[in-house]
Amino acid sequence: MIVKPYTQTLYMEALISLNKRLHKNHPKYISLREELHRNIAGNIGEEAVMNFIQKVNLPYKFYAFHNISLYGESLIQMDILIISQYYAVILEVKNIQGEIEFKSHPFQLSRTLATGERQSFDSPEIQLQEYIYQLNGIFKEAGFSIPIYGAVVFPFTSSYIKTPPSKTTMLFRNEIRFYLRNLETQNPPLSIEALNNLKNFILNKTIIYKPFPLTQRYSINTDDIITGVECTSCNFVGMKKVTRHWICTRCKNISNNAHHQTIKEYFLVYKNSISNKECRHFLKLNNIHEATRMLKSPNLIKTGKYKDAIYKMHFTH
Ligand SMILES: [Zn+2]
Repeated sequence: MIVKPYTQTLYMEALISLNKRLHKNHPKYISLREELHRNIAGNIGEEAVMNFIQKVNLPYKFYAFHNISLYGESLIQMDILIISQYYAVILEVKNIQGEIEFKSHPFQLSRTLATGERQSFDSPEIQLQEYIYQLNGIFKEAGFSIPIYGAVVFPFTSSYIKTPPSKTTMLFRNEIRFYLRNLETQNPPLSIEALNNLKNFILNKTIIYKPFPLTQRYSINTDDIITGVECTSCNFVGMKKVTRHWICTRCKNISNNAHHQTIKEYFLVYKNSISNKECRHFLKLNNIHEATRMLKSPNLIKTGKYKDAIYKMHFTH
């Protein structure tokens, strides 16, 4: 049973926004575009694996979670976690195309594309071993003692594994069912009640990755960010406010609430607080009262009064 389904992360939404709003000639533009594409590929792979797990039936109860981050000795960010009365399994999903080689001296993953282009990545083997070690500590400290396994999963057959890992289980998506079925299920270390407690423990402890605003995280000057309200129809940034509506100067689309998304993007990308003046600058408004009206939102927490008022956004997911 899926208890935390696949969802696009807020970090991903922030990366999309930053890529859209960063000037194309910025020195970090190309590397951020690559970061976005890596994340998109990663998400596609994780979604495909979660869809597969949804169809898996086992003769006992199990819970599956997408994207769980827990604090052990450091933050561990697991793509997929499965728990049952018998075991926990961490799945590290790798949506990497081309010819894949796992190397162990030193640990590294390299891939070669059909064009001959070659790239190296951090070893998922080392990461997985570290996650298993830390998750063991986290579970033990909370009073849950179960064997923890891990596997690197390739979601698509567009990855050709030339050299498989030497010490770690590696699976293609369609092998997951077979792999789970073959795990030891003799004497359950957890009762059904303890399993449900563990499920709730994980859901309560998981941390949402919120390195916002991204300009701070990536040391980008806010002057390099394109301001303005994005058109909800054609995605042009620079809608104009006319009386009670926003109108797109490119496609003539009219919207009442286009500023909602833009204010959210302000917090994801630009700054972690907004004043009336900053709101007018970012939304390109001339009128102080209009900005006050736009900042009246259940998602915004106000502190201070009158012209000293500032607002912060509370992200719930
Ligand atoms: Zn438009």
